[in-house]
Amino acid sequence: MQVFKVGKATITRIEETYLPVYPIADIFPEFSEADLKEHGHWLAPDHYEIASKKIKLSVHSWLLQVDGKKILIDCCCGNHKPRPTRPHWNMLNEPWLDRLAAAGARPDEIDMVMCTHLHHDHLGWNTQLRDGKWVPTFPNARYVFSKVDFDYFQKDDADPATPPAEFGTFRECVVPVVEAGRADLVTGPHKLNEFIDILPAGGHSPGHFVFKMNFGSSTAMITGDVFHHLLQIYYPDWNFPKNSNVNEARISRRRVFEDCAATGAMVFPGHVGSPFAGFIDKTDKGFRPRF
Ligand SMILES: [Zn+2]
Repeated sequence: MQVFKVGKATITRIEETYLPVYPIADIFPEFSEADLKEHGHWLAPDHYEIASKKIKLSVHSWLLQVDGKKILIDCCCGNHKPRPTRPHWNMLNEPWLDRLAAAGARPDEIDMVMCTHLHHDHLGWNTQLRDGKWVPTFPNARYVFSKVDFDYFQKDDADPATPPAEFGTFRECVVPVVEAGRADLVTGPHKLNEFIDILPAGGHSPGHFVFKMNFGSSTAMITGDVFHHLLQIYYPDWNFPKNSNVNEARISRRRVFEDCAATGAMVFPGHVGSPFAGFIDKTDKGFRPRF
């Protein structure tokens, strides 16, 4: 468990998995031998496995604790969820709830769940299987979802000619929360409370959000999947595959990097490897991570 202090807030990483998952050539076809030479000293072993030539990705949630409130950001893949085309995350059985409890939160203590976007690896723990039915895991929480993403996946899910949206994730992890009356569908930009601004950063998904947090003198930015890997800070035009709009994803990434560099926000990405959170600096050529 990694614990970060941002002003008076505590932000804790709750791990689900942290593995070498995809060949780097499949994810970033732009990656060359010259890049390996330039970046090899920091890539391995936390962000890249040399033997398999695979990138390492973390799947985790962030638990924000401030002023006695417990807010969970992104909900990983979840247990017992069939994802046959994603073998690393298929039918997981991880002690994620125990890790959440060790970080200081039982499910009934979570005040709010915020999802950066509605992809399968950010929604899993929204619901749990109880008596054969998917029900909200956090009975007292309001769940914040992107309305743009909700509309997009609802439409996708309604077409009987195509498989269920996001491998069934929409039906298993979003619809039961809405039916239980616990969801708030938000269109950004939106000031959620005194600490949190919800800002649109679409492209990876149409309604992808980042959460900008201000705790007095210190700022945090929860960036979800605006970027997946630290290499993309050096090369902001490198897209991770699977985007609703590749150009918009690049524009959003640069805009978020500019914002993080200008404000000095501590950056909390969705999948970056150890040390999992850090800063983005501006250079003459572009940007550089300081993780
Ligand atoms: Zn993701």
